[in-house]
Amino acid sequence: MDIEKLAKKNILKLRPYEAKEIECSVKLDANESPYGISSSLRTVLNIDTNRYPDPEAKELRTLLARSWKVRAENILHGNGSDELIYYLINAFGGPVMFPVPTFSMYEIIAKVLGQRTIGIRLNDEFELDTQVMLRTIKKKAPRMIFLSSPNNPTGNSFDPDIMERMIKASRGIVVIDEAYQPFSSQKSFMPMIKKYPNLIVMRTLSKIGLAALRSGFIVGSRDAVDIVNRARLPFNVNSLSQAVAVKALENRKTMDKMIGTIIRERKGLYKSMSELEGVRTYRSDANFILFRVSDAEAVYKGLLKRGVLVRNLSGAIEGCLRVTVGTPKENRIFIRELIRVLRDSR
Ligand code: PMP
Repeated sequence: MDIEKLAKKNILKLRPYEAKEIECSVKLDANESPYGISSSLRTVLNIDTNRYPDPEAKELRTLLARSWKVRAENILHGNGSDELIYYLINAFGGPVMFPVPTFSMYEIIAKVLGQRTIGIRLNDEFELDTQVMLRTIKKKAPRMIFLSSPNNPTGNSFDPDIMERMIKASRGIVVIDEAYQPFSSQKSFMPMIKKYPNLIVMRTLSKIGLAALRSGFIVGSRDAVDIVNRARLPFNVNSLSQAVAVKALENRKTMDKMIGTIIRERKGLYKSMSELEGVRTYRSDANFILFRVSDAEAVYKGLLKRGVLVRNLSGAIEGCLRVTVGTPKENRIFIRELIRVLRDSR
């Protein structure tokens, strides 16, 4: 598959922003200030705030490439994955296809960029509707398909065989959004990028303790990454984010321990919720749990009155709310208050 042919014509004409690093002792080329923050703050932050960030985020990408067993040239960094979704749709165009319900930004960004969208309902088990999707791929030839697996807000991972069928059937780009993969029992699609040039895997640091940094990535064939890179703003990820992400990722053990705790808590939360009368709890592979009650609005408001904020999803999935896994104490409070709210509503 010739990935270049999939790019929008205006993007294909562009060259990526060139960021040659030229060795020098007196740097006077970029209209930066020679003065940064106070030296005491400089010592704490360990970045030169007066200089532009590394436009290629080399250290961060190299570190991730090693841990994901790909090359740095297969990775592109974004100001959160939201920004990368924007770049992707801007580079390849629509129609943009995605399951319903899913992460809302695929549709919003496609519409912002004036692209057609095709939403395909998940089946009753929240699994991809294989037949309808394959038929639509054939009939409408979407230039992009977004699959969030595990899916937000349903929490389940999609069947990997079905996802692979989509990649094979598609003549466009398929993005597998693995924002919640660290919490999943399923394998990443990352190794498949070698097999499928139209596959792009998306990751974020937002769900593993670094949401404030705004740091997301896509991983794909060199050709696909190169095309998205043409639509990227040169200094999209700031120096502080790059530096903190590098430090946090070097300390992988702490991060893995925290992920382990969240998975354990999710299991406990699932068990407690499943035992409650009037609550239907859905299995989750992510760091949140979707649940259905008879009056979602009342339960949402009741919880909030007691200081517990969850997401009301009843607009997208009838009667459903979504709770994020918190600390053991937060989860205990959530369960305690949910029990009270349910009792009061009887
Ligand atoms: N993908 C999915 C499936 C998400 O749920 C989210 C955040 N809610 C994102 C991407 C966006 O992540 P980021 O913070 O990296 O922009």
